[in-house]
Amino acid sequence: MGDSAYPASWYAATRDASADRPPLAARIEADVAVVGGGFAGLHSARLLALQGKRVVLVERRRIGWGASGRNGGFVGPGFAERSGALIDRLGLEHTRRLYAQSQRGVVLVREAVDKLGRPDIRMGVGKLSVSRTDQGPGFADRTRALADRLEAAFEPWDTARVRALLDTSRYHQAIHDPLSFHIHPLNFALALATDIEARGGAIHEATEATGLSREGSAWRLRTPRGEITAQHVVLAGNADLGRVQPRIARAVLPVATYIAVTKKIGPGLAQAIRWSGAISDTRRAGDYYRVIDGDRLLWGGRITTDTREPPRLREMMRGDILSVYPQLGDVRIEYAWPGTMGYAPHKMPQVGEFQPGLWVCSAFGGHGLAQTAAGADAVAAGILGDDSLWRLFAPFGTRWAGGPFGRAATQLAYWSLQARDWWDEKRQAKNAETLRT
Ligand SMILES: Cc1cc2nc3c(=O)[nH]c(=O)nc-3n(C[C@H](O)[C@H](O)[C@H](O)COP(=O)(O)OP(=O)(O)OC[C@H]3O[C@@H](n4cnc5c(N)ncnc54)[C@H](O)[C@@H]3O)c2cc1C
Repeated sequence: MGDSAYPASWYAATRDASADRPPLAARIEADVAVVGGGFAGLHSARLLALQGKRVVLVERRRIGWGASGRNGGFVGPGFAERSGALIDRLGLEHTRRLYAQSQRGVVLVREAVDKLGRPDIRMGVGKLSVSRTDQGPGFADRTRALADRLEAAFEPWDTARVRALLDTSRYHQAIHDPLSFHIHPLNFALALATDIEARGGAIHEATEATGLSREGSAWRLRTPRGEITAQHVVLAGNADLGRVQPRIARAVLPVATYIAVTKKIGPGLAQAIRWSGAISDTRRAGDYYRVIDGDRLLWGGRITTDTREPPRLREMMRGDILSVYPQLGDVRIEYAWPGTMGYAPHKMPQVGEFQPGLWVCSAFGGHGLAQTAAGADAVAAGILGDDSLWRLFAPFGTRWAGGPFGRAATQLAYWSLQARDWWDEKRQAKNAETLRT
């Protein structure tokens, strides 16, 4: 596999044909230069092109090569940081406005899919966040109260309602979000790129931004065989921005997670999962999955700071599926792949103007499909003169993520959270056993 080829995945196997876009090999001028051909860069470029800006986007490999072309495909509101923690830190009003911006991200993705004339990109509607421990009698009231405070659409489901759709004893109550949906992310990224070009924007693949300097009132972005002079630069490189802006690059911690897609399972899958929306469990690093292609299961899970692909990835993912749905005993994995998410230490995205005309739209962690659109919307508004949206993200800066030390600390924190989740489940199972006997 060449460095620019898409990694083997179900998405790559079912992607739209798209010719390679030539590398930048000239000195050019633009209103806005965008670094990164994932959703953060693509939405930024598209929203600005829609407003008549001359945009040029450079991507080190191919459009959607990073997290954007290989994720779970869930589009929903909220952020990697939990809303309760945001309310404690920022107060209710600020959190509500941030949440509203994430909801706007959901709407922007839905509208883009519709306007691109590609209804097939949207693969299912609704999302269930299921709990693996019994949340007790106060769960429904607590959930409704939080939804009211955030002006959100989610609602509580009781255990019986969950188990009527998901045939597993692992799950208890759930939060149902009717506004979420799930997509084919790689085809969405490719369709956004085509639309940017249709609106006069330029895209160069196999083009790494390697340097950036201030030239009078403009910025000069260097690539190996060319350069772009622009009033504004948007850095949307996620976890591997590299040397173009070391301070931003160091502020994002790469965290790997994995996805597997089964071979076609047959009617047994519809007996186990009678729900066409997305499903995730609420553990700190839980499973997330959905039915695709009629009778395949797309299953994501686990996080680690080691971004290499584990040698027994397929067996690991198969074991995770069977621990929830043992009745799928002979399930076989056809594709399995890793992907890298970018996390800032505060678990919120970095969105805003870092220096005059230098913008960042990055670090969306595991919640990026709607949030990249929300961040890009805020950045585009800022470039067009309205600072009110990106300032919502101003409390979350571009602090150093700790390099290898940050990775070790994150891995330790993950192991301890995983142990706590495991302990919670075991303790409840033991209590239930004691009650029965
Ligand atoms: C396995 C997995 C599952 C996930 N599941 C979900 C999900 O179900 N729902 C959800 O909301 N989120 C999910 N996420 C998170 C989501 O995919 C990301 O938050 C989002 O795609 C980030 O988009 P991005 O544009 O910031 O980054 P990326 O998609 O990683 O794009 C960044 C791009 O910038 C390029 N680049 C970097 N540096 C340079 C440079 N110097 N010059 C040129 N190009 C450069 C890279 O090559 C890359 O293509 C998941 C992530 C993973 C990995």
